[in-house]
Amino acid sequence: MKIIMLGAPGAGKGTQAKKIAEKYEIPHISTGDIFRANIKGGTELGMKAKSYMDQGQLVPDDVTIGMLLDRISAADCANGYVLDGFPRTIPQAESLTKALSERGEKMDYAIDVNVPDEAIVTRMSGRRACLSCGATYHIVYNPPKKADICDVCGEKLVLRDDDKPETVQKRLTVYHEQTQPLIAYYKNAGILVTVDGTKNLNEVFKDITDVLGA
Ligand code: ADP
Ligand code: ADP
Ligand code: ZN
Repeated sequence: MKIIMLGAPGAGKGTQAKKIAEKYEIPHISTGDIFRANIKGGTELGMKAKSYMDQGQLVPDDVTIGMLLDRISAADCANGYVLDGFPRTIPQAESLTKALSERGEKMDYAIDVNVPDEAIVTRMSGRRACLSCGATYHIVYNPPKKADICDVCGEKLVLRDDDKPETVQKRLTVYHEQTQPLIAYYKNAGILVTVDGTKNLNEVFKDITDVLGA
């Protein structure tokens, strides 16, 4: 099964993508996590991405598309995957469609996790991230067992630089301009599913699995 998660920054794409990946035993591929791992590792790709990310801008398509197409060619993607944070622009979506169709494949679902902007800023200011394993928490809605420590790997949790309110506003504007048009793109492709992302995280997950099936 091949799934795309759509939605504003902070809508809950990553949270749901992890649960989907676990239940259906497919890899969770987050372009944001790949960029953050590269920044942490001091790679050339990481250096390129960092200045854009810090400003709440998208990393250019020529960097991002190649990286993602390489990743989905890996052996662990043979039975599908859940994409979280890609595509984020129409050219990214078109490149993905084209690369898949060259192999006789297509995406199965694009799940739009719908949350209004007003709710996003609160979500983001309470988000805590593990930069080691990619896990995310929320200080109120999904707290770690031990304050500020990752349940999965024991690393210290952080408030991401780009989750500060000024940058979140910028990212929302970028989302509306560049990413929201993908909702119509996947509606036209006949694979769009919309879920109400304001429900609690288990309810959102149930709405998703009702569509994906057992
Ligand atoms: P969010 O939690 O807001 O959805 P992500 O972790 O997916 O954030 O992305 C963080 C940042 O990484 C984005 O603001 C952007 O700068 C960069 N990024 C991630 N995925 C992409 C992509 N597909 N295209 C361009 N930039 C991306
Ligand atoms: P995205 O990947 O779309 O940027 P995340 O999955 O990281 O979003 O979620 C953003 C923040 O909101 C995190 O702190 C997460 O724990 C929290 N969160 C996710 N889903 C819900 C929900 N349904 N209700 C309340 N908080 C949520
Ligand atoms: Zn961790």
